[in-house]
Amino acid sequence: MSLDQLVDKIVEKIQDELESRESFEVEASGRHVHLSQKDLDTLFGHGYQLTKAKDLSQPGQYACQERLTVLGPKGSFHNVVILGPVRGESQVEVSLTDCLQLGTKAPIRESGDIEGTPGVILANGNKVVSLDKGLIVAKRHVHMTPEDAARAGVENHEIVQVKVEGERPLIFDDVVIRVSPKFATYMHIDYDEANACGFKKGTRGHIIKKK
Ligand SMILES: [Zn+2]
Repeated sequence: MSLDQLVDKIVEKIQDELESRESFEVEASGRHVHLSQKDLDTLFGHGYQLTKAKDLSQPGQYACQERLTVLGPKGSFHNVVILGPVRGESQVEVSLTDCLQLGTKAPIRESGDIEGTPGVILANGNKVVSLDKGLIVAKRHVHMTPEDAARAGVENHEIVQVKVEGERPLIFDDVVIRVSPKFATYMHIDYDEANACGFKKGTRGHIIKKK
């Protein structure tokens, strides 16, 4: 091996090491509903409290035992999980494939950014709420602690590329970075994206630096 080749090999090894140090776990989010207390009251009864079934990776967030039916013009989904705690406004997150089944088009948005989005119908038995907005396809994102963001050299709301490793590695573009001390560092993709990259539990990704 020539000296140049050796240097190249060492540089490659260092890059790999830095990438693995800055990598994070990827999680795939299925379709789910966030509810306002007002809509929770309508669907489950006045003053109803959600029942935690399982903590999620983001501190304070949890999947609930309660399930809902989500109805669109063409089709519906039963047993859709509600994620707690309650929020200021109800929001339904689906994949683009789900949209085809529902017969609705939903825009790709960051969570909470629901102005001008289409509505959808939520049902719990014979109790129904007709949302006039709130149906979105979540924009893929990385939740980061301020420490991890600083280490990776990225800022809140920055748009980056993320390479997801595995049997079917894929570089995702247009990934939004979300930084908060309330977060744990994880990337979130939906099931369409998960299938595209051969996602399995434990799949990791890392930010690709623009040269
Ligand atoms: Zn998320």
